[in-house]
Amino acid sequence: MIRFILPSLLLAAACATPAAAPTPLSATPQQLHANVAAFAQPTQDGRLAALKAQLDVAGLAYEIESFDGERAPPAAGHNVVVRLGPDEGREILLTAHYDAVVLKDGKLVDGAVDNAGSVVAMIETARRVAGRTKHPVRLILLDQEELGLIGARAWIDAHGVENIAAVINADVNGNGDTLMYGLNNGQQSLFMIGAVKAVCAERAISCLDFPQYPPSDDRAFSAAGAPTISLGHQPKVEAERLRHFLISPQGYDPAAPPPKVLTLIHTPNDTIAAVEPAALALAADTFTALVLKLDATLE
Ligand SMILES: [Zn+2]
Repeated sequence: MIRFILPSLLLAAACATPAAAPTPLSATPQQLHANVAAFAQPTQDGRLAALKAQLDVAGLAYEIESFDGERAPPAAGHNVVVRLGPDEGREILLTAHYDAVVLKDGKLVDGAVDNAGSVVAMIETARRVAGRTKHPVRLILLDQEELGLIGARAWIDAHGVENIAAVINADVNGNGDTLMYGLNNGQQSLFMIGAVKAVCAERAISCLDFPQYPPSDDRAFSAAGAPTISLGHQPKVEAERLRHFLISPQGYDPAAPPPKVLTLIHTPNDTIAAVEPAALALAADTFTALVLKLDATLE
């Protein structure tokens, strides 16, 4: 064995190229879980403060891009943006909204699965890919998604989509092992479906495509013409129930339980109790693999 290994080691030493950035140690599933818990705040400003604190700990420098929003006064929204990788070139965007729904009684939900779980998984993804991509990567934690994709539209109005190579959006993560994605983000997004399928096969993870995936900030980007995919997770049986329900609400067995996610998000049930540490780690692993695949295969 050594006879075969030695020459390759010597060859590697002789061909030494500038070292790629070392892969950072992953946050533990428990750390990711604690980060999701920290988003349970009485106000949207509290969620923003939690987000900033986590970016500081992750060593990710950010800028706040404020916009005229549509929230009850004060209306302004605040997108939080981290830029990684080279300055020039077509960008891979990582997006997730950090705002949460206000219920009729005026209370802000904890928004753990929707959508702190995605935010935390995306921050971890950004931390892991930092310095390892040939494309610029921009992590955009968006505000006011729940009010109608307001933060995403404000970002697109300010920056356009001409320089976007791909948008990976995350919404509804941290609960379950099955990756869900849609087939309905336009022709320009077909190569991203292929990349997701390849990651699913290579990593032997459970994945489920939806003919019509529920909308998130991805719709603002795909409507503007950018290649886009939106990724969520649920337990496999729940993902299959949701897919069935969305394809044919009339055909859904009235005796069967409704898809659990519909009684979870936008309700007081969407708390840290619904979030699994391992599901957060799985989401970060999958998102990281997808970013690196797209970076390697895109022009
Ligand atoms: Zn959401």
